[in-house]
Amino acid sequence: MRRITIFGATGSVGQSAIDLIARNPGAYDVVALTGGRNITQLATDAVRLNADIAVTCYPECYDDLRTLLTGTGVACAAGADAIAEAAARPVDWALSAIIGSAGLVPGLVALKHGTKLALANKESLVTAGPLLMNTARAHGATILPVDSEHSAVFQALVGEDMAAVERVIITASGGAFRDWPIERLASATLAQASSHPNWDMGQRITIDSASMFNKGMELIETKEFFGVDPAMIEVLVHRESLIHALVGFNDGALMAHVGPPDMRHAIGYALHWPERRTLPVERLDLAKIGALTFEAPDHARYPALALAQDVMQAGGLSGAVFNAAKERALDGFIAGRIGFLDMSRVVAMTLDKMSSAGGLQNADMTLDNVMETDRLARIRAGEAISQMG
Ligand code: NDP
Ligand code: MG
Repeated sequence: MRRITIFGATGSVGQSAIDLIARNPGAYDVVALTGGRNITQLATDAVRLNADIAVTCYPECYDDLRTLLTGTGVACAAGADAIAEAAARPVDWALSAIIGSAGLVPGLVALKHGTKLALANKESLVTAGPLLMNTARAHGATILPVDSEHSAVFQALVGEDMAAVERVIITASGGAFRDWPIERLASATLAQASSHPNWDMGQRITIDSASMFNKGMELIETKEFFGVDPAMIEVLVHRESLIHALVGFNDGALMAHVGPPDMRHAIGYALHWPERRTLPVERLDLAKIGALTFEAPDHARYPALALAQDVMQAGGLSGAVFNAAKERALDGFIAGRIGFLDMSRVVAMTLDKMSSAGGLQNADMTLDNVMETDRLARIRAGEAISQMG
């Protein structure tokens, strides 16, 4: 039996992973499931999958979780430290599907124990890519991409020589507002930004898709994970979300990964890697689909892309600033404090302020420096939000 842990088990990606695991319960020994406020789901899954421990990141949810788990044989714990402790429990495979930079520490702890880490939590690569990749190398651990574009690139690279790669193209649906006149974007509401044309995902990443902050993060994720030059990475708007990424080689070939917009494919690929196993996802009927379309991204519509490109060029701790400011700006938008277009302004202002203060590029990428940068960037972004509100 394979021992597995799922961080962020109650979320959109976590639930897709549980769907796969629950179909074949005899194959897995579930060690830990972690979640946040959705403790009913957490407790239900922990009992049904017979997990050793269920952990909520919120101490105030502990009593309710304990009540739900009393007499079930599943242990429980609460708080960020308890999640990090759960990450230290030996497993063969762990899924990092926490949302936000809170996913960084559990991911690092799992890597230090040599775990095979399936990584959906792109924020940890954006915030501290070199730290994550070096930790994996130093401890003989493997990171497997779960973000659909990065899983697609990873699959297109099987058996290939990185030296022959000329470019990496990640696709973008264009998000909820792809057909809106730009003038309307400033008045976009939370409900409008929270609906995705093709993918069914958590609310935060859905809004990030409408603003293309998600694609900006994925540019940085591509650079950090595959170690490619930023100039080699492109974004292509592809409305159908069926081609997830393409890799261009020095002989002119483009290897495209085509599949249904269902995260269970990328999660399942990482779960069974290096094998391919049957997965319960739709088989595409391309004749029925008929046509696939492609467009260059409109940078005026999606300022997040240029910000991400600057961050890739700058490197160092600027990714930590970008991610933290983006998370804070997104909180501000969700709380109704700032408008949709203000999110990219908040991130730009925070990056400007913190890069002119200096030290972002040359500082050592230690966990302490990353956490301190993340903390400061949230304060600066909060100040920018107050100026706007
Ligand atoms: P969700 O918001 O649906 O779920 C997030 C999970 O993290 C939940 O289990 C949540 O608990 C938990 N959580 C929230 N805050 C914290 C915290 N501070 N500490 C620990 N756990 C916390 O997110 P998604 O599933 O949409 O996304 C998860 C990750 O995967 C993100 O990094 C996202 O960018 C990435 N991703 C998602 C895709 C998708 O299809 N959704 C596609 C590609 C990448 P609770 O809900 O119980 O409060
Ligand atoms: Mg993606």
